[in-house]
Amino acid sequence: MPFRPDMDDVRDRARGAFLGLALGDALGATVEFMLPGEIRALQGVHREITGGGWLRLRPGAVTDDTQMSIWMGRAIANGGGWDLRRSAVHLAAWLRTGPADVGNTVRRGLRRFVVEGTLEGEPSPGDAGNGAAMRMLPVALATLADHEAMRRAAVEQGRLTHHHPLSDAACVHVGELLHLACLGLGMPRLRRASDAFVRALPEFAFSPYRGESGGYVAETIATVLHHLHASASFEETLVGVVNRGGDADTTGAIAGAIAGAYHGPDDMPRRWLRQLDPEVREEAEWLAERLVALSPLGQGEPPDL
Ligand code: MN
Ligand code: MN
Repeated sequence: MPFRPDMDDVRDRARGAFLGLALGDALGATVEFMLPGEIRALQGVHREITGGGWLRLRPGAVTDDTQMSIWMGRAIANGGGWDLRRSAVHLAAWLRTGPADVGNTVRRGLRRFVVEGTLEGEPSPGDAGNGAAMRMLPVALATLADHEAMRRAAVEQGRLTHHHPLSDAACVHVGELLHLACLGLGMPRLRRASDAFVRALPEFAFSPYRGESGGYVAETIATVLHHLHASASFEETLVGVVNRGGDADTTGAIAGAIAGAYHGPDDMPRRWLRQLDPEVREEAEWLAERLVALSPLGQGEPPDL
């Protein structure tokens, strides 16, 4: 008998992933670019969604991490499936909305697409930032049950703005963990996947954890993996990650998506969900449902485990 997950459970976990992404972004943005010692001195442990930060956000507002994921999600939902060019068009439309924060590599890549129409740039040593890994969730949900389709789409979507082997690998591993978590597999299974990933690419080593949490994708992913694998709840994961400071909205967003799928929406602090921008919350939940429905799993395919 092939393994068949309960689809109600998968939909719940997908909703948890999208909400978790937004919650991690909203929680982490307050302390983005701070050092752990500065966070402690200013407020002890940062564990409430209060807005502010260098972007002076309203409490519950999200940043580019969630916005790009939502626009990618819209591209897939509107197109009825994964379509690289449609995603590029949507991300370019997002850029025209004048977002408060856009990473340099993302801006350069999207401008290149607008001017040249190309869907990837030349490989560049400067492209090892986390800006592609942070928008992996929609691709992961839309490819549930098909690991190969996820790998292809992960690399394609990533290279719209980031053409670097570490960015490619990070996108694929985030997608892999999202798949496993959405299917309801246990933490030992996720840990085995992370250990294999680090054996192949030691740049991402997270145990022992070096404590670096910047925008370099290897630091971002190590921070996410360390806290994901060491924490017993959604809240513990996110509080641990964002109090590392650095690129805290992005480590928060990626960890929030994986932990949100793994622990599920019922494990999320009510006080955080109440703070989250209601329009973001509504669209995140709607997109999660739509993307799962469009995925091979949602279309009746068994998972390829
Ligand atoms: Mn951000
Ligand atoms: Mn960030």
